[in-house]
Amino acid sequence: MTNKNTTTCYVTDIFACTCCGFCCHGETTVSLDQRDQDRMIKTLGLTPEETRERYWRVTGSVVQMQTREGHCIFYDKSVGCTVHEGRPWRCRQWPLHPSMLADENNYRTITESCPGFKQGVSYQQFCHVLQALLEQADSDKTGG
Ligand code: SF4
Ligand code: SF4
Repeated sequence: MTNKNTTTCYVTDIFACTCCGFCCHGETTVSLDQRDQDRMIKTLGLTPEETRERYWRVTGSVVQMQTREGHCIFYDKSVGCTVHEGRPWRCRQWPLHPSMLADENNYRTITESCPGFKQGVSYQQFCHVLQALLEQADSDKTGG
């Protein structure tokens, strides 16, 4: 396991997606903020109107992705996410959610629904790595 002060932490210390697709299933999806919408429009190469018509479910100010047959419209069981470069930030973050640091119950709930978590890692070890990864992400955003 990595040491916070002397060694870089890697996502693969705690997680590797198996591409099982479980998190892309359900009758609703994550919501898209403005940056998500802009990124998705750019990735798809469509107009905002075309993107909205073909792929989004808009309820008041809430924009989600449409679903088909119980999963996100962009999920394809043979290839996974078909809008990978343009996927929303919540999809990018999942399943390494900061709430897992605050409450071990959140950690248990999420790890039970996702088979990508590395086995044999204690909750304390997991938190150590995730905290370091989140700090690294913040540092990257601010140029620190
Ligand atoms: S549930 Fe976990 S392992 Fe499965 S696709 Fe989602 S993130 Fe990957
Ligand atoms: S955008 Fe991609 S990663 Fe996100 S729910 Fe849809 S298929 Fe899954």
